[in-house]
Amino acid sequence: MAAQYYYCTQCHKKISTFQRLFDALYEFSKSDPENCPVCGSVRELHVSLDFQLGVGDGDFKVVHAFLPEKLESWLGEEEEEVTYYPFLVVLQGAQESKQFYWMPYWHVVGKDARYGQHALCLDHTQFESLVAQAQKRMFAAV
Ligand SMILES: [Zn+2]
Repeated sequence: MAAQYYYCTQCHKKISTFQRLFDALYEFSKSDPENCPVCGSVRELHVSLDFQLGVGDGDFKVVHAFLPEKLESWLGEEEEEVTYYPFLVVLQGAQESKQFYWMPYWHVVGKDARYGQHALCLDHTQFESLVAQAQKRMFAAV
């Protein structure tokens, strides 16, 4: 499971967010983080991941977070609406400029956001290779 915090680029203060990861990523996908409460400078959202990507210590800056423009919803087992939130998150290692595409997802039922298992994380060139192959095939089929 990931931990997340805001990092001030000016005074280097780290402030843990007590938001759930879902809420932190959702807000980040809509707008930039609020400025640092200490010095007023721009803050970054960081996540600490407990899986290895072969770089650094698992600490990553969130560069972008995207959600599909149209989300899918359906009625779940208890007749409650379930909404699926598949994120595409661009991460950058703290030490290196190498970027990764991380795809965590949640099923939101009422106020409950259920974290999906097995979030995908790929080197950005691998991800782009997959998307390019899919687009090529799909355009060829039209
Ligand atoms: Zn600051």
